[in-house]
Amino acid sequence: VKKVSIISVGNELLTGQTLDSNCAYISSRLLSVGLPVVAIFMTADEIDSIVKSLERAISDSDVVVMTGGLGPTDDDITRQALAQFLGVELELQTELLEQIKTFFAKRGTVMPQRCQTEAYIPAGARALPNKLGSAPGILAEYKGKKIVALPGVPAEMRQIFEDEVFTELQEYAKGQVTVVRKLKCFGAAEAQIAEKLGNLMERNRNPLINCTVSCGVITLTIIAQGGWQEQCEKMAEGDEKRLRGILGDLVYGSGDVSLAQVVGEKLTRQNKTLSVAESCTGGLVSKLITDVPGASRYFAQGWITYADNTKTNELGVPEELINKYGAVSEEVAQAMAKCARRKADTTFAIGISGIAGPNGGTEEKPVGLVFIALDSQAGCVQQRVFFPRGRDAIRLRAALTALNMLRMQLEV
Ligand code: ATP
Ligand code: MG
Repeated sequence: VKKVSIISVGNELLTGQTLDSNCAYISSRLLSVGLPVVAIFMTADEIDSIVKSLERAISDSDVVVMTGGLGPTDDDITRQALAQFLGVELELQTELLEQIKTFFAKRGTVMPQRCQTEAYIPAGARALPNKLGSAPGILAEYKGKKIVALPGVPAEMRQIFEDEVFTELQEYAKGQVTVVRKLKCFGAAEAQIAEKLGNLMERNRNPLINCTVSCGVITLTIIAQGGWQEQCEKMAEGDEKRLRGILGDLVYGSGDVSLAQVVGEKLTRQNKTLSVAESCTGGLVSKLITDVPGASRYFAQGWITYADNTKTNELGVPEELINKYGAVSEEVAQAMAKCARRKADTTFAIGISGIAGPNGGTEEKPVGLVFIALDSQAGCVQQRVFFPRGRDAIRLRAALTALNMLRMQLEV
């Protein structure tokens, strides 16, 4: 199996100033054509460090993809490091120099003198045209292996990767196919899902099944590897069926689908409508719902009733209820949902009230406690969520739980 390593070059990555998104992009794109990334190196803008990373990366891989340090400033030294590693000189490619000059001319400026360095390519290597910036990428061969250097700017990296590198590497990895499928789940903990799946998640199994979790959303990734496409598709398909069978309605969709999309499709198909009354989520449920284009078909209205008196004035939640049970309570969340449904005249209404923190928690009602109610003609169901994390995570978890409650009601 042909393998890939990535080298990310840049002090800004090492200091945490910039998050390395290039790696994530390259890894997932290569995995989709059966080229697994086996190691990622991150290195400073220093020739020696880059050369050392190249030595280590190439020892274990057939392809090395580097990003960053191809620009015209003094800290851009990937080109020199690559030449040194290859044991060749940097050569001025006059044709490339003309292209770079044209790049600037088209923008109505003259090429800054220092950009001339971008026309220097290690002898024997090939320049990869950059449509969005001035610095071209570089493709070099080394002992039958391939080394690709791309600019650090994500948009430029992606353009050159897609137009000049992807097909070439796909060809290079022929006879080695990977099919990736994703299943999205909500409503159980990661450990519970792992328990249910048992030895399906064994590490040396093919397809390999991986599990990640983010604010309650569990993503199961099925990675099938083999010699040809249909074989892998079949293996992945078989596992997808198996997982769906085991997990039942914990699975809400496949690929990159969101809970809001799934809920939206169901509401549309069933010709039902929704309104939302939110307190601690500050409109997040409404935001997630309206992130989906065409949400006006089913989403009527949202209220953000943050202060207690607005719950009474805007929604009609009885003041005595708030005084008796507190704004963060099962009773008030239910009243919010019921009032919203009556006012907006929708099939469903969600009511949410909780303590997102960091302050305002008590022993009885700690930070992270959220009450979610879902009202419909069939009655009002409610869920008590306790997710003691940061404010953002609490709010997202609560909003997603609300959407999932609605999904469960729409299943039947
Ligand atoms: P430039 O011509 O802009 O100098 P370059 O190829 O030299 O391009 P860098 O200087 O390393 O690239 O980075 C340019 C920009 O791209 C910076 O804003 C940097 O934060 C961003 N960048 C670099 N590497 C990455 C990465 N791995 N992930 C995300 N962003 C990155
Ligand atoms: Mg730079």
